[in-house]
Amino acid sequence: MRNVIIIGSGPAGLTAAIYTARANLNPLVFEGYGAGGQLMLTTMVENFPGFPEGILGPQLMEDMRKQAERFGAELIRKDVTGVDLSQRPFKIQVEENTYETKSLIIASGASAKLLGLESEKKLMGRGVTTCATCDGFFYRGQEVAVVGGGDSAMEEAIFLTKFATKVTVIHRRDKLRASKIMQEKAFKNPKIEFMWNSVVEKVLDENLGKVTGALIRNVKTGELIEKKFSGLFIAIGHTPNTQLFVGQLELDEQGYIITRNGTLTSVPGVFAAGDVQDHVYRQAITAAGSGCMAAMDAEKFLEHSEP
Ligand code: NAP
Repeated sequence: MRNVIIIGSGPAGLTAAIYTARANLNPLVFEGYGAGGQLMLTTMVENFPGFPEGILGPQLMEDMRKQAERFGAELIRKDVTGVDLSQRPFKIQVEENTYETKSLIIASGASAKLLGLESEKKLMGRGVTTCATCDGFFYRGQEVAVVGGGDSAMEEAIFLTKFATKVTVIHRRDKLRASKIMQEKAFKNPKIEFMWNSVVEKVLDENLGKVTGALIRNVKTGELIEKKFSGLFIAIGHTPNTQLFVGQLELDEQGYIITRNGTLTSVPGVFAAGDVQDHVYRQAITAAGSGCMAAMDAEKFLEHSEP
């Protein structure tokens, strides 16, 4: 029987691990096979406070992991395959093993949707990115492109005009999905240009190991053109990793866990932190902050639920 099990090992999960370990709760963390979360897909992180020269995303995660281990957190690099939250202790299934826990912190994150191209995978973190807030700064004085037609794509495109000389929005239809107000802002911005009915066929240049542009196909005419730019921002939405909790926890219409009063979910004793419950801020630092909150909420819950 564990005091607390943590699902996920991004900034939220590992911060929760550090705090619960230091509270002598002996946390058990299921890191998942994609351990480290979305920061493993980035290169330099320059907006995490405390690193004036920046730090590589994977290095930051390795350091957080070491810090959690130093205080006694137990980490297992496996995916949780099932949960039963219908009664306490909660049951956590990991392949053939079942673990029991008095409290649970869910920090399983969200995954940025990707186009699914081989070239996109190869150049991820080398010019292909899913976060303008994180990487926009690197493109000062350069041309970039954004894929997507929703609010995220418009927000990223507008943000990127602070740095880039030109931002091309590549959208697969001839109408945006974004809210009217975001559309107006984007249309009014002289640095933003639109390529309608267009999809990225291939990101260039795998041989150079960096983004130099893309082959773009017009879905109406079939025409294929080469467009030059040095950064490609994929903004086609995120999927919260909440499949395990459907029917057991209150989720919003997009599948994110609903939290109230900090990190409390609809089941007492179950807490959620990081991107799995946040589709607005989505930053490493906000995820870490909410991981700390979840640890403190779990600690308080355990104090009050014990005889
Ligand atoms: P979204 O609204 O689902 O939009 C995704 C966009 O990506 C759509 O334009 C979609 O095209 C396109 N897309 C999806 N899959 C694609 C693919 N495989 N290839 C090419 N294009 C693809 O996602 P979001 O923009 O991340 O927004 C999510 C939610 O957060 C929305 O409710 C949004 O309003 C909200 N949000 C609000 C703000 C704000 O108010 N400031 C900012 C960010 C997000 P189609 O249009 O053809 O489907």
